[in-house]
Amino acid sequence: MSDLQAQDRGDSLFDGTGSRLLAAAAVAQVSNDTLERLRLPSSVLKVSIPVRMDDGSLRTFPGYRVRYDATLGPTKGGIRFHPRVNVDEVQSLAFWMTFKCATLDLPFGGAKGGVTVDTKELSLHELERLSRGYIDAIADFIGPDVDVPAPDMYTNSMVMGWMLDQFCTIRRSFMPGVVTGKPIPLGGSHGRETATADGAFHVLSTLLPKLAEQGRAKPKEDRPTVAIQGFGNAGAQLAELLAEDGYQVVAAADSSRALYDPDGLDVARLRAQKGETGELPAEAGEEIDPDELVALDVDVLVPAALEDMITADNADSVKASVVLEVANGPTAADADETLDERGVTVIPDILANAGGVTVSYFEWAQNKAGIRWEADDVRERLRTRMIAESENISNLAGDRDVTLRTAAYAQGLERISAAVDATGSAEHYQRER
Ligand code: NAD
Repeated sequence: MSDLQAQDRGDSLFDGTGSRLLAAAAVAQVSNDTLERLRLPSSVLKVSIPVRMDDGSLRTFPGYRVRYDATLGPTKGGIRFHPRVNVDEVQSLAFWMTFKCATLDLPFGGAKGGVTVDTKELSLHELERLSRGYIDAIADFIGPDVDVPAPDMYTNSMVMGWMLDQFCTIRRSFMPGVVTGKPIPLGGSHGRETATADGAFHVLSTLLPKLAEQGRAKPKEDRPTVAIQGFGNAGAQLAELLAEDGYQVVAAADSSRALYDPDGLDVARLRAQKGETGELPAEAGEEIDPDELVALDVDVLVPAALEDMITADNADSVKASVVLEVANGPTAADADETLDERGVTVIPDILANAGGVTVSYFEWAQNKAGIRWEADDVRERLRTRMIAESENISNLAGDRDVTLRTAAYAQGLERISAAVDATGSAEHYQRER
């Protein structure tokens, strides 16, 4: 049993990711040194953050920052504020980021951070004090050349602005490259707000015609049909891009309801109304059971809400020929095999939603160089990179006869392995002279 297999025996650290990595390791050219290096996170920081509340009382919140692997560059990963945050989850997400960055050929390792807190219970001032307090606690651990945080669940560009300001105050130096996802006036990049949807759009536009050519997707001639689960930031933006490009978005769901119209929903109207009321408008289509959306006979199913929405329990019902994973981890590992057997092609999250981290890289690169790129420039660089990596992964999947997910992990693994081995591997040192 390899060390990675040992790690995958059910401990929560690697959960589904571990088995997927093992499948990739089996078809990738990867040294044992690399697998050994990836067995454990490079550092795990646990802090407590004292916050003065508005009523004068003091509360301490637990916080974490995990740097998983820095072989390819400074570590990169978001900061999550959520009541369920714990060290195991942060560690798993840091591991995941290591692969996402390597798969997209970004010069970053992987990290993640979080605070166990329900932000809905905090006032805006308390949220600011918590954000600044978190940076006070981890300031020695981060930096533009060391570890670069970004927003994640329940953190946003304003939180990044506070964090940047706090870090600069501590260091007495303006260092905008310490966080990404900042407001544009503080050194944020154009295109960051729409990057995930833009990236997913380019990935689908590149891969759907290839899958059709290979007979693995049969999109309706002119207007492929799409169902979107999760009409939030990423899902709604993508729905609009697809509708504008001639796709027919026949179903959309948020946490309030699921809507269906076989002739295509009016996506722009849905977005406008959801913006006003916070919910999908009931009268905009036929209301269906949210579980039915996953089973609709569409060309492309887009899970863009939460993790584990497609599991061993409902994978059998999926009729779409392509699943585009815009959410992180929407397909449970135990559903992969069923989908594959049924001929459903999954475009994995690690590629499909990587537009966000790619524009974060652009932001960091602009900050380091002290320049600003125009919005069109950012858009074109994102397009070029997403198309190139989609093609690489598609070719790798064909050459090695594996799924796109396994190919994406294999690509990341080989890039990390090449860097690990460049400093000398066991094979190098043990070679007879
Ligand atoms: P969001 O909070 O803006 O949107 C989530 C949407 O999902 C909301 O409309 C919510 O109502 C809906 N939803 C919740 N539960 C649902 C359910 N059971 N069925 C149907 N819909 C449900 O979040 P977001 O930023 O759009 O992120 C969505 C997913 O995409 C997450 O997994 C996130 O990690 C991933 N992601 C987002 C980005 C980004 O830049 N926004 C980047 C990478 C990955």
